[in-house]
Amino acid sequence: MNEPQGRLWVVATPIGHLDDISKRAQDILCKVGLIAAEDTRHSGGLLARIGSRAPRLALHEHNEREQFARIIEVLQQGTDVALISDAGTPLISDPGFRLVRAARDAGVPVSPVPGPCAAIAALSVAGLASDRFVFEGFLAAKSSARKERLGELVAESRTLIFYESSHRILDMLKDARAVFGEARNVAVARELTKVFETVLSGSLGRVIAQVEADANQQRGEFVVIVAGASGEQADATLAEGRRVFALLSAEMAPARAARMAAAITGAPRKLLYAKPAD
Ligand code: SAM
Repeated sequence: MNEPQGRLWVVATPIGHLDDISKRAQDILCKVGLIAAEDTRHSGGLLARIGSRAPRLALHEHNEREQFARIIEVLQQGTDVALISDAGTPLISDPGFRLVRAARDAGVPVSPVPGPCAAIAALSVAGLASDRFVFEGFLAAKSSARKERLGELVAESRTLIFYESSHRILDMLKDARAVFGEARNVAVARELTKVFETVLSGSLGRVIAQVEADANQQRGEFVVIVAGASGEQADATLAEGRRVFALLSAEMAPARAARMAAAITGAPRKLLYAKPAD
């Protein structure tokens, strides 16, 4: 017979409003034998509020590799473990991926306890297409790297979701305007579920003017949602990509020209070879 195994529960916690913790999350956080928390001090308040006295262990970016072996051992001894992060759903721009993978590899059952996630909460109120979307998480801290990544997304037709911090929100929006143009629609969701929650929406040009005019709009935590490229925008990007490809391919091998034209214009590389439809 198999040895008894614990279960790893991946538990979502609030992104601001403490009442957003589910009943099931509370029950599980009270009954498990161990809680692996991104920051045990940070989670202390929430755990005290729900009456959880479960032992805690810190599992963050810097110790995930060393800690997960210990946690898997505990699970294999038959103890249930809950994984939580500082806010929202673990693994979503938060630690835990290596632990979950290791648990799966070890045959340990893993179950989600779903709940708040800033990206999904923001998407649900942004008023931008929500049928298809891409989660990009945090962009690079440096403007050049940020613009390069945004450039790769310029022809993406799905809605784009980014996380951003208060020190970079304005610079990030300005880089987005430089790459996507000021007419592209955006929603900036700030401090969701908290006292100073605001959601600004409209063209990038208009939203940047609002954020610049009010220093409070540059404080707190942000989700930035950018509308995907319209058919017209995608066509214009492809036309520009083909123009640059034609120029470059006179000077270099077509494969290299296509790679460079795609990087410069954001047009999909494979389509640069194809002849435009009549
Ligand atoms: N795991 C979390 C989740 O499920 O959303 C995300 C963790 S990530 C380290 C933190 C980032 O999420 C913040 O910098 C911000 O971009 C976004 N975020 C978290 N809480 C938020 C809130 N209440 N309002 C707006 N954005 C928030």
